Amino acid sequence: MNLMPPRAAMERAFLTGDRTFDGLFVAGVRTTGIFCRPSCPARKAKPQHLDYFATPSEARSAGYRSCRRCEPEAQPGSVPNWLEPLFRRLESEPDRRWDGGQLRELGLEPARVRRWFQQRHGMTFAAYCRSRRLGRALETLQTGGTLDDAALGHGYESHSGFREAFRQQFACPPGSADATRCLRAETMASPLGPILLAATDSGLCLVSLAGDEPPGETREHLKCRMQLPLVPGGHPAIEQAKAELAEYFAGRRRQFTVPLDAPGTEFQQRVWTALQAIPYGEVRSYAELAREVGCANGQRAVGMANGANRIAILIPCHRVVNTGGALGGYSGGLWRKWLLLELERTGTPLTPSAAQTGTGKPAQIHPKEPAKTL
Ligand SMILES: [Zn+2]
Repeated sequence: MNLMPPRAAMERAFLTGDRTFDGLFVAGVRTTGIFCRPSCPARKAKPQHLDYFATPSEARSAGYRSCRRCEPEAQPGSVPNWLEPLFRRLESEPDRRWDGGQLRELGLEPARVRRWFQQRHGMTFAAYCRSRRLGRALETLQTGGTLDDAALGHGYESHSGFREAFRQQFACPPGSADATRCLRAETMASPLGPILLAATDSGLCLVSLAGDEPPGETREHLKCRMQLPLVPGGHPAIEQAKAELAEYFAGRRRQFTVPLDAPGTEFQQRVWTALQAIPYGEVRSYAELAREVGCANGQRAVGMANGANRIAILIPCHRVVNTGGALGGYSGGLWRKWLLLELERTGTPLTPSAAQTGTGKPAQIHPKEPAKTL
């Protein structure tokens, strides 16, 4: 299944550079023969000169070349080609300290690297590397390593420098590492665009679709809500969620088994539990959900608890629609909600792009169709 938003929505998204539509379509500019993703920062062509395609490979078959600025063929949420050499080095030398000269040696412009990290991770490249190193140092301490192992093993030259950096990151001294909790966050590419995942030691606490908020802001909210410092990098709950979500998008998973950490009021917890009880492929109205949590007149309260859910898809708030079948709202964008419901209704895999999966021609749908379908 590979569906396109209505033309008017695509036009608006493209002209305003709406990132939340990345991965849902590309636009070809007839006057230049180049196609772009919706968020391309280049100057926008006039609407009458645009052609829309569900996937990059269709734009190519129609004779368009891909834009070198926005790299529409790179899957949203994945690392762009130009940054790959750096990410390979970050994998092989995670404890290295970087300066601008070393970035230039890799053929990278430090300012561009900084902008990318700021946009994707809400922090500079230097801060990203520092928090990753400290996250690894915390792991070393928690698994019985000494202060020497933690400091010298992760790029610090002195205990005092390490102590200070550790205290700044985790608001406690390295000596209390055992009791130190933190958040880990990572982005995964998906057919619905990038998904930001975060976990605490208790479980997965965030699944945020690109439509929600800019990643930097989401991360700030998360730090405030969980009151824990945030460290970029993996966590077993995140790895499990990534694998299960990939199966879900492929139509091969109907239930999730990742442990969740979803703090909320008692009422919110009741609503979220009720959401998890809605079977795959079914929807409920806000009124029905309100009855299920024993609050028959509480549609509005239920709607707000639904909206306060931060673990999209796994706590399936997308399965709640308005009475009468209209889609209602969705913080991740109505098109994503509709695609999720179509995936669950038909069991047809959501494909990021025909180029990657080799699927055939996508269906086009009309603006009013989603509301009728439900
Ligand atoms: Zn472009």
